[in-house]
Amino acid sequence: MHLLLVEDDLDLGADVQRALAGCGLTSEWVRGVAPARALTDGDDAARFACVLLDLGLPDGDGLKLLTHWRQQGLKVPVIVLTARDALETRVAGLDAGADDYVLKPVAAEELASRIRAVTRRAGGYATAIWTIGPLRIDTARHEVRLDDTLVALSPKEFGVLAELARRPGEVVAKHRLAQAISPLSEPLDFGALEWHIANLRRKLGETRILTTRGVGYSLAE
Ligand code: CA
Repeated sequence: MHLLLVEDDLDLGADVQRALAGCGLTSEWVRGVAPARALTDGDDAARFACVLLDLGLPDGDGLKLLTHWRQQGLKVPVIVLTARDALETRVAGLDAGADDYVLKPVAAEELASRIRAVTRRAGGYATAIWTIGPLRIDTARHEVRLDDTLVALSPKEFGVLAELARRPGEVVAKHRLAQAISPLSEPLDFGALEWHIANLRRKLGETRILTTRGVGYSLAE
């Protein structure tokens, strides 16, 4: 999963990004309203599975940014990340369209479990276990079973599969899949993506992942 982190504090931002990486989540980190808007204009926002949003930003108010996103119809789950623990702020955040609210400093495991909860809700899944045909994907344990048999996947193979499994049957663009597995601040590695797709097909069955030439891949329903 690829996330957008909006946080101006250098230490906190680095901590959160490290915590996310430790949970196998990649993220893009910006430190203000303007760069966050630039990254979420138009269809660009679709590549983020979730946004972690600080409220006090140097060039504007995080709540106003959130209100703007919701007015634009942006459906990505948003977790408000803030040191402000006043009840009014919390209510205002949820009213503005936040999906959850986490107080800083944040424990890595709690943050990961909140992210899983909001992305699951957004994907229409009620549990952390996704069943797609003979596949069972446990997003909390990073386990995959095919016809009840555990399949050993590398973290990146799991990342690609989880990205496809969020919307079974829908084509996911190559750049989005590559983003989900590429290390931060490195160019997208499309060669590695094809390698992981080939491995997934070998382990899960050749027809499990379909290619839409020049566009991307989809998980067979
Ligand atoms: Ca701040």
